[in-house]
Amino acid sequence: MPPATTAKPPKPKSVRKRPGKALANAAAAKAAAKRRKRDGLTPQEVEAIFFRFHQVDPEPKGELESVNAYTLLVAVALSAQATDVGVNKATRPLFKVADTPAKMLALGEEGLIGHIRTIGLYRNKAKNVIALSQRLIDAYGGEVPADREALETLPGVGRKTANVVLNIAFGVPTIAVDTHLFRVANRTGLAPGKTPLAVELGLEKVVPDPYRLHAHHWLILHGRYVCKAAKPLCQRCIIRDICRFEDKTAA
Ligand code: SF4
Repeated sequence: MPPATTAKPPKPKSVRKRPGKALANAAAAKAAAKRRKRDGLTPQEVEAIFFRFHQVDPEPKGELESVNAYTLLVAVALSAQATDVGVNKATRPLFKVADTPAKMLALGEEGLIGHIRTIGLYRNKAKNVIALSQRLIDAYGGEVPADREALETLPGVGRKTANVVLNIAFGVPTIAVDTHLFRVANRTGLAPGKTPLAVELGLEKVVPDPYRLHAHHWLILHGRYVCKAAKPLCQRCIIRDICRFEDKTAA
């Protein structure tokens, strides 16, 4: 009689299913995208983004209409939570009669309201425009100061408005972060940040000097017309291959 054996029977081959190739590729692509997002954009990629913006639109312009630094300041102050088109409609006739602080004061708050009542929050904005006009006359000889701190002391003028005025009226390479720019900076990975200030400071660190002056215009226009909030037009985006946004719309 053969001796009893203690050897265990061989294990059956694993029957665990391996994921299909397509599934594995998708997972690998997702992991690579995550890695790329975590690592942020390289300086070469940032340079490429602005090079492309520059090639398409070398001299981008803001869409708010103005005739001097003062009217620019007023237009930006009126544009909070309003469209540029709506503001322009109201300010075209307004600036024909009031393009200086003195003329605005002569028009008075009620006269100003008559021009801007189609713009949201017009009562509060009218108060601010009259008050800032008075302060420009009292403290700055009726001129708009080319200085951030001074601008931010004006009623209704915050960091974003000051940045727009410094950039457009005085050629200072500031970056004014509005809702469009905030979105683009976060989606692309250019300067992720939880607040407008964090995004502004992040962009200041990465935008190459030659592109600084126009950076905010390019990014705002890109956000307004291509990288839209609800449905970005990724299929026609010129920086699609660099952008880190994980939910790009189909090509
Ligand atoms: S690829 Fe899409 S999400 Fe990225 S910047 Fe372009 S439009 Fe925006």
